[in-house]
Amino acid sequence: MSNCIFCKIINGELPSAKVFENDDVVAFLDISQITKGHTLVIPKVHNENIFDLQPEIAAKLFEVVPTIANALKAAYNPKGINLLNNNGSFAGQEVFHYHMHIIPRYDENDGFG
Ligand code: 5GP
Ligand code: ZN
Repeated sequence: MSNCIFCKIINGELPSAKVFENDDVVAFLDISQITKGHTLVIPKVHNENIFDLQPEIAAKLFEVVPTIANALKAAYNPKGINLLNNNGSFAGQEVFHYHMHIIPRYDENDGFG
C-alpha cells in the first residue's frame, strides 16, 4: 500500500532497526519504545488489522514470535514480555498495517501498564 509507513519499511523506502526478517515477516524496534527493546512484528502482506488478517498470514507471523521473544530476552534480560495488538482506532491502533507489539518488562516503573 503506497501511503503505509510499514509497507515503506518493508520495501526499504523508510529505515528501521530490524531485529528479524524472513520471507513473510519483519520485526523492528518501535521508533518510540515504551520499554527498552520494544519491537513490532509485521507481515510483509498489507493486512489492516485482526478483522482482515488472513489466517495463513497470522500463522506465519505467530510462528516466529517465540524466536523473536527469546532473542529479545537474551539481548535485554527482561523479567517478562507482554504481547499487545491494537485493532481499530478506538482500541488505540495508529498504524493500519497489522502489527504485534513485543514489550519487554523490567519492573513496575518501566513505563508500561
Ligand atoms: P499502534 O498504536 O498502531 O498499535 O502502534 C503503532 C506503533 O508504531 C507505535 O508504537 C509507534 O511508535 C510505531 N511507529 C510509528 N511510526 C513508526 C516508524 O516510522 N518506525 C517505527 N520503527 N515505528 C513506528
Ligand atoms: Zn502496509
